[in-house]
Amino acid sequence: MTQEKWGQLRQRLLKTVGQNNYTTWIEPLVFSEVQDGVATFNVPTNFMGNYVSQNFADLILYELNTAGAKVQRVSFQVAANVAARPSTRVAAPETPQDTSPAPLDELQAAPLDPRFTFDSFVVGKPNELAHAAARRVSEGGPVTFNPLVLYGGVGLGKTHLMHAIAWELRARKPELNVLYLSAEQFMYRFVQALRERKMMDFKVLFRSVDVLMVDDVQFIAGKDSTQEEFFHTFNALVDQNKQIIISADRAPGEIKDLEDRVRSRLQCGLVVDLHPTDYELRLGILQTKVQQYRGSYPGLEIADGVLEFLAHRISTNVRVLEGALTRLFAFASLVGREIDMELTQDCLADVLRASERKITVEEIQRRVSDYYNIRLSDMIGPKRLRSYARPRQVAMYLSKQLTSRSLPEIGRRFGGRDHTTVMHGCKRIEELKLTDGQIAEDVEMLRRALEA
Ligand code: ADP
Ligand code: MG
Repeated sequence: MTQEKWGQLRQRLLKTVGQNNYTTWIEPLVFSEVQDGVATFNVPTNFMGNYVSQNFADLILYELNTAGAKVQRVSFQVAANVAARPSTRVAAPETPQDTSPAPLDELQAAPLDPRFTFDSFVVGKPNELAHAAARRVSEGGPVTFNPLVLYGGVGLGKTHLMHAIAWELRARKPELNVLYLSAEQFMYRFVQALRERKMMDFKVLFRSVDVLMVDDVQFIAGKDSTQEEFFHTFNALVDQNKQIIISADRAPGEIKDLEDRVRSRLQCGLVVDLHPTDYELRLGILQTKVQQYRGSYPGLEIADGVLEFLAHRISTNVRVLEGALTRLFAFASLVGREIDMELTQDCLADVLRASERKITVEEIQRRVSDYYNIRLSDMIGPKRLRSYARPRQVAMYLSKQLTSRSLPEIGRRFGGRDHTTVMHGCKRIEELKLTDGQIAEDVEMLRRALEA
């Protein structure tokens, strides 16, 4: 065993553990010597030595032996002459450490949340397509689109829909082996299988499921060997015509560090997104939740306008919306008061303040002109060329949608235009959104970027 050999070995480890783990835990190891079957490494801190020893020792041992070194044990010692690394290098571990290792031979699915069913899922424009696709695969009929990829921002109902599919399949097709797990759990199982040298078991088990659901798949991006295994599992299942359902926080094409072949595999199926909620959907969700709460808080009254106010003021993230309502009910029942505007403002002051980040017309103008690659001055100025007029209308439309400015106020910010011009611009974009896919997409992209 030489330093040079260790250098090569590290490259293999990089592939297995992924870049983050590698940078944090493997790279700082300094190979010292092999003596009496013990390979010794110098580490900068005790903490690090313990961590690596618990989590990667087997893997390192395995690689050392594969490379021909006759080693029975690896040991880590803090060497006085190894400069301590800045503590920022000790990042949070990639694999969930508090999960006690489940034996590989009983492939446990992650538990399903009993609240996440189709019954409790409120359908609106922003999620209707995702909902319809989820319904379809939950029937367990012949596999028509594979994989189904659900993507969208945080708190928009991806996990809810996936659990709903799993519940429904369990009820309709109890004979099917449905496996739901997060991408992190997938990775954890994989690393564990490597460590315990049970890759065969891993492969056999994963290839025996009928429906595989992997939530938040963006987490495997950049983790090369996990991605590779995922890719193989994926292909094996697709070849057997088994349904795969994936979720991600963005479109497959936009996930950084995702291997091209994985990406194109994902794009082969049906890719549907959950859009940020709109006012109607938020109101619908609030009304549904109120019905549910009525059971636990009988006699609770909500003044007119409160739900509308919340739907208006709280962001697109449904989780935040739910949290606000739960707090409101708990508070009202504690103090024994009706939920009116005053109580709402008091109880939710912090939430309301947090969602107050206002998008400005200026910000919209800047983003839109960047997006269309025109100068800000041309957008605001008098030129009537289509290549300026259209972006201008898009910016007007977004200003109307995303800010509380009135039409005359918006007009003023667009070089002193009349409010009827703004109104006309907004109408035009609304029409075009229905007939021109490109415009619809531009508007959606911009809106997301602005609301992010
Ligand atoms: P994601 O996985 O996309 O981050 P979740 O599925 O965890 O989001 O949803 C966050 C919370 O919002 C959950 O409690 C979920 O039940 C709720 N939720 C999201 N969308 C809806 C909806 N359309 N109807 C009812 N509840 C919803
Ligand atoms: Mg989720």
